[in-house]
Amino acid sequence: MKARHDFEALDATDPLRQLKKQFVLPPATIYLDGNSLGAMPFDAVERTRQVVEDEWGVGLIKSWNDAGWITLSSRIGDKIARLVGAGKGEVVVADSTSLNLYKVLSAALNLASGSRRVIVSERENFPTDLYIAESLARQHGLTLKLIDSPDELPAVLNDELAVLMLTQVNYRTGRIHDMQAITAQAHAAGALTVWDLCHSAGAIPVELHAANADFAIGCGYKYLNGGPGAPAFVWVNPRHADKFWQPLSGWLGHDAPFAFQHNYQPAPGIKRYICGTPAVISMAALECGVDTLLAAEKLGGMEALRRKSLALTESFIALVDERLAEFGINIESPRDAALRGSQVSLSLIGEMDAASYAVVQALIARGVIGDFRAGSPNILRFGFTPLYLGFAEVWDAVEHLRQVLVGKEWEHARFQQKGAVT
Ligand SMILES: *Cc1c(COP(=O)(O)O)cnc(C)c1O
Repeated sequence: MKARHDFEALDATDPLRQLKKQFVLPPATIYLDGNSLGAMPFDAVERTRQVVEDEWGVGLIKSWNDAGWITLSSRIGDKIARLVGAGKGEVVVADSTSLNLYKVLSAALNLASGSRRVIVSERENFPTDLYIAESLARQHGLTLKLIDSPDELPAVLNDELAVLMLTQVNYRTGRIHDMQAITAQAHAAGALTVWDLCHSAGAIPVELHAANADFAIGCGYKYLNGGPGAPAFVWVNPRHADKFWQPLSGWLGHDAPFAFQHNYQPAPGIKRYICGTPAVISMAALECGVDTLLAAEKLGGMEALRRKSLALTESFIALVDERLAEFGINIESPRDAALRGSQVSLSLIGEMDAASYAVVQALIARGVIGDFRAGSPNILRFGFTPLYLGFAEVWDAVEHLRQVLVGKEWEHARFQQKGAVT
């Protein structure tokens, strides 16, 4: 059985250890929630100060040109493209994930043949994805069909299918879909694909072009460390990008916004997926976040981050199996590393399931920050961000969880109180 010093030894030889310096992390905290809100890059403090005090305060409106505010969407989009296997000029940053999903799903439905009346997604997809699809299905008189497992895919890949909309890495379990294989199957059935990369961008290597995907969207505030409410990104395969006006045809997606023409003329390519004026301060913070991942490029990039992420999640699973066996804990994430994103979800067997929320709260009180996702079973979710987590912290997190369970700390009344955000 391994001991803490074995994990300290892994930290001592970890080639990515130096990347942690890029972040501000509070003392005595083991942050296992970078899958929900990435930690704050050190540079974000100075950069947002600069944007507010210098560029806004002094430069005023001149900063749209002088400080390059107007190019932020494309500039950061190009950086994100490097993380998801897309080309330069193919990604823009704009709006939120929900809004970008609305744009690309509308586009995909428009491109699909009118005789195809079905959108397929997964019941366990993130709710906003399903809600947006539900709204579009209502508007277009289509059917939204939800499957419970990838095994059901062959049955729905037929000539009724317009769009297959999937999240590559499931938010509850962390299970990865094979984007390339599923896209090929969908194409063979004559359908288009929309991929949500919220839990994949910055978490696992993504190859949009190699997978021959059609549309993709993703989040800025999770593994991209862009800050709370950071703008999201959108990618459209260049073969589709010029074919459709996305429905939110705002002025900054116009071919010549400052010509102030009366009629909409979409910009060529991905730029038409921009709607209105960008949130400049948020964009500045997001760029710092994306840069923390690009800093890994010289150390092996996403492949190296993936290796460390898997080593972290393997360690966590092994320690839960070994050291918490007596407590009846299920690993809800795939044990097969190839199928697992950068998180591990646990559930508590039997009566303890109802205590899941309180257990997470008791852990947080000890400085181990994970989160809780309601469902059946309830889930204790732990994200492992290789940019700033070490192996000794994995050991410590499991030890804290052991203490919470041994001492029944979760029974304390203050851990039963639910906040608005879990
Ligand atoms: C986090 C997440 C979102 C968030 O959407 P917002 O518009 O940023 O609130 C959407 N989809 C998935 C799959 C997510 O994990």
